[in-house]
Amino acid sequence: MTDYVKMWENLGMDLKNHDALCQVLPTAFGDVYLSQQNRPQAMAFWDFVVSEIHGIRPSELIEAQKKGQKVFGTFCVYVPDEIVIAANGIVTGLCGGSQFWVPGGEKVLPKSTCPLIKASVGARLDRTCPFFRIADMYVGETTCDGKKKAWEILGQDVPMHIMDLPQMKRSKDIRKWTEEIADFAKVVEEFTGNKISAESLGQAIKTINNKRRALARMYEARKAENIPISGKDALLVMQIAFFDDPVRCAKTVNDLADELEKRIADGVSVFPKGTKRILLTGTPLAIPNWKLHHIIETSGAAVVCEEMCTGTRYFENLVDESKNTLEEQFEAISQRYMKTNCACFTPNAGRIDDIIRLAKEYKADGVIDASLKFCCLYDTEKYKVNAALKEAGIPVLSLETDYADADAEQLKTRIEAFIEMLG
Ligand code: SF4
Ligand code: SF4
Repeated sequence: MTDYVKMWENLGMDLKNHDALCQVLPTAFGDVYLSQQNRPQAMAFWDFVVSEIHGIRPSELIEAQKKGQKVFGTFCVYVPDEIVIAANGIVTGLCGGSQFWVPGGEKVLPKSTCPLIKASVGARLDRTCPFFRIADMYVGETTCDGKKKAWEILGQDVPMHIMDLPQMKRSKDIRKWTEEIADFAKVVEEFTGNKISAESLGQAIKTINNKRRALARMYEARKAENIPISGKDALLVMQIAFFDDPVRCAKTVNDLADELEKRIADGVSVFPKGTKRILLTGTPLAIPNWKLHHIIETSGAAVVCEEMCTGTRYFENLVDESKNTLEEQFEAISQRYMKTNCACFTPNAGRIDDIIRLAKEYKADGVIDASLKFCCLYDTEKYKVNAALKEAGIPVLSLETDYADADAEQLKTRIEAFIEMLG
């Protein structure tokens, strides 16, 4: 492994604390990932990325910064990457998925904040994540209350732009989101010093659409009777997609999809015939949160789809590529992003339709609806999700969890009982 200590030092990181994190990650990854049998060979790329997770991509970002590019850190799938890329900027996801960062967040946030927010704030304030140190600007959004207040804290020591996301999807809300995107474009232009043209935005739209198409191909393969990739591996691909260069991401995911399609043709599966198929829905699973997938896939079932932001919400729906003026392109971007169904919207019937549609498409035997502790939005929405799934005759298990391991045994017992009930 390359020695990145000097780079971390230059980033002002807390090396001692960071060392502690670097020591636990390889074991966790080995236990969860490398213990799997018959993985697609293409997964070697993602294994390598994880083995150098705080080194390889951060050093690329720093090199790009030296050449004048700006890095934008984002926390939500509603922030349009297209705008940043059109101004020759780079986007990196910043959501924290490790319990390691939670205590740092709890120093400034109420304990009753969801672990994703606490971990994200902790990663920044404790100086233990290079991505949080590298980003030149953070881009927040007005999705949930916890995030809105967290931006005020994070904004104290890093430039922060907040996009005002509507909470409904009427035509006037879509128009408002179009304006918000146009304003974001101005902010990005000023910050990068690069003008966004219809041509550069058109190219950026194509780049991000291609990444979506590649991820959709990987998901398509998971619909097959013989499941060619574990849910854990698919989740890892999704998690890294938030950090990687979009062109390389499309290429590596397409290579993986080629292998998966061949596996389907050859009848290769990573699970024994008859393994129960689970659709997982709920709050996002930021890297390195592999807890639920690991429990499900070591309890006799396979995760075949995630109706999550680290799942279908990230790649479903393309931006219309046929628009030729900035105005039309902003509108097309707005329309695409407003098709995403997060629980921060009301009403949010679209998400329930998505879950039922996806459960059928992926031939799920059951749905696990899991939310992070203290996520009031997804927790409350469980009521309607539950009712709709019951009405559709699809078994559902509702769970709430966090990043700590304390409830792992209890979760395993409940998940095993659910899987048994499916059989
Ligand atoms: S769950 Fe909602 S707020 Fe969280 S990343 Fe997804 S869209 Fe954004
Ligand atoms: S999981 Fe829920 S509370 Fe946490 S950031 Fe996402 S929407 Fe907000």
